[in-house]
This record gives sequence, C-alpha cells and structure tokens, in this order.
Amino acid sequence: MEEKNTDDTDVLDKIRNVSTSALKCMQCGICSSSCPSGRHTSLNIRKLVKIAGKSIDILSNEELWMCTTCYNCQERCPRNIDIVDILLNIRAISVQNGNIHPEHRIVCEMLLEYGHAVPINKQNRNERVNLGLEELPETVHKYEDGLEEVKILLGSCGFGKLIEQTES
Ligand code: SF4
Ligand code: SF4
Repeated sequence: MEEKNTDDTDVLDKIRNVSTSALKCMQCGICSSSCPSGRHTSLNIRKLVKIAGKSIDILSNEELWMCTTCYNCQERCPRNIDIVDILLNIRAISVQNGNIHPEHRIVCEMLLEYGHAVPINKQNRNERVNLGLEELPETVHKYEDGLEEVKILLGSCGFGKLIEQTES
C-alpha cells in the first residue's frame, strides 16, 4: 500500500472534515439533473459528491471550479447534503494549498483592485443611465474612500497575499 506523506494526510483530513455530510449521498442524481452548469460543462456534481472526502485528488479536479454556486442541487437534495458548502470548503483548502483555477484568480484580482468581483463596464453604465438610474451604483464604484477601506480589509485578512501565493 502506498504510504502518504504527513502533508497529504493533513490535507485529506481537512477535506474529510468538510465533506462529512456527503457520506449520506445515495447517488440518486437529482443534483446533477438540477445543475445548470453541468449542461454546459463537464461538471458532474453527483460524481464529485461521491468522491468528496475520499482522496486529495479532488484538489486537482477541474470540475471543482465549474460550479456557479446557484444552490439548485443543495435545495433539491433529498438527503439534505450541504453540496455547495462542501465544494466551497474544498476550494478554500485548494487555495490554502496554493492552487486556484485561472478564471477564479482573475475574479479575486478584480476584487482586490476594484472592490468588485465583476466591476461595472461602460455598457452597464450606459444601460443604468438609460433606465434613469445614476451611472454608478451605491457601491465602492461610487465611493472611492470605501474602495480604500475594502483594500485595507482584504489586506488585513491576508486575502491578497493568499492569492499572490497561488498557482493556476
Ligand atoms: S441529490 Fe443528494 S443524495 Fe442525490 S446524488 Fe445528489 S448529493 Fe447524492
Ligand atoms: S450549485 Fe453548482 S453544482 Fe449545484 S446546481 Fe448550481 S452550478 Fe450545479
């Protein structure tokens, strides 16, 4: 039997700890059939639930990053499994171990720079004006001091450093 190193064992323990409710899964497939992302990507959430907590290999599974966190699956699961929360926690473990999907890194960098994961663009500004709204929403887009505060908060909790240390 292959011996795992201590680091791998620790990481697997963390993954197991966040995946305990997946043990209740009866593989009915309601989650997969409710999943809008699975219609457009290779994401098979039923399979991910099945392997969650079994191996550290899940950290290199690209499907881990394809969930849009719409929560359809979690709301419909007859076993009340915290499907999305499991995924998000495993993603967090992945990031803590230095790995992030490139697209998610971009979103994090946007948040660090603009205070929004999806900053407003010219088209949306124009559409707001056409609707009779102010060009900028009541967020850090409008209040520059607020943006500085967001940056301080993200810096103080180590978010920027964490993302800097990851590889995609
Ligand atoms: S809906 Fe729930 S019980 Fe059914 S396969 Fe998905 S996670 Fe398992
Ligand atoms: S939360 Fe994620 S896995 Fe669940 S249905 Fe939505 S996209 Fe699919």
